[in-house]
Amino acid sequence: MIVYGYRSTHLKSAPLPNTKCPNCETPNQMTASVYGRHVHIFWIPLFPAGKTGVFECQHCHKGFKKKELNDDGKMAYKNFKGSVKTPIWKYSGLALIAIVIAFAFYSNSQDKARTAEYLEQPAMFDVYTFRTEQNYYSTFKVLEVFDDSIYVNYNSLETNKLTGVRDIDKTENYIDSLYYVLTPDNIKMLQESGDLMNIKR
Ligand SMILES: [Zn+2]
Repeated sequence: MIVYGYRSTHLKSAPLPNTKCPNCETPNQMTASVYGRHVHIFWIPLFPAGKTGVFECQHCHKGFKKKELNDDGKMAYKNFKGSVKTPIWKYSGLALIAIVIAFAFYSNSQDKARTAEYLEQPAMFDVYTFRTEQNYYSTFKVLEVFDDSIYVNYNSLETNKLTGVRDIDKTENYIDSLYYVLTPDNIKMLQESGDLMNIKR
């Protein structure tokens, strides 16, 4: 269950100049309190969603809505509201999301650079994860590296989820008799097909 919705917090209060109380008509006794609303998800503030005002007469202590103020009061409130800043913590959730996305981009580009490096210089025991024609995932392990080819050992198992690869990447699943010779062209084709998922070293 995802818990989300609106929350309001008090931002600032100040007297409203030139404003008469709509009830007791006492001048210069009105105060305005600005509340900032924000959208939250699991109580983490996501982004601000407007400001609202609550008004009180310090003489008769009655509360009012904005529409009950006279024109001078509305104008004074508008000026005051414009001066109240939205605190930066109300953007926490957005900042968090931006950080997560930036990190995902960064680690993806790191992964790509690493894969390119491993392809360039294969090493014994590198484990390649690839997608099969039936959309399953399996692996092969580099046994030996030669100038013009690599010998690899295929995994005898496959899995329907990429995350399941770690469960099948076990020594006993690589059968010695199932080894193949792959040329740089074979590897290049695998990479260009988009079916090479990653290389673990
Ligand atoms: Zn009053």
